[in-house]
Amino acid sequence: MQDCIFCKIASGDIPADTVFEDDHVIAFRDLNPQAPSHTLVIPRKHIATLNDMQPEDEVILGRMYGAARAIAVQEGIADAGYRTVVNCNEAGGQSVFHVHLHLLGGRMMHWPPG
Ligand code: AMP
Repeated sequence: MQDCIFCKIASGDIPADTVFEDDHVIAFRDLNPQAPSHTLVIPRKHIATLNDMQPEDEVILGRMYGAARAIAVQEGIADAGYRTVVNCNEAGGQSVFHVHLHLLGGRMMHWPPG
């Protein structure tokens, strides 16, 4: 999508601190980190929200979680633990409308989240 910032990161038009990439997903550090380790895992395909995922896209979600698992090891947060979050639409706190998985770690997480 032309005016999607995450599509521009995926295509390399906008720089990002990339920590993982393959043919289907790319992951980069969040510009405004909420934890010592905070990365975003996105599909290369533009899908606006979780609501917009079609059944055939569900394999992408698996790839996103697979990437998150690998990045957690890479970041040294796997054993201590970490949190994965997908915000959906306004009430869910989504601000960038290209599906993304937040991977947060390096500190104690609290529950319930705000
Ligand atoms: P959400 O509020 O769930 O849509 O999360 C969007 C996230 O994208 C926020 O945590 C932002 O800090 C992050 N973000 C926005 N623009 C960029 C960017 N250019 N590079 C890295 N992270 C970004």
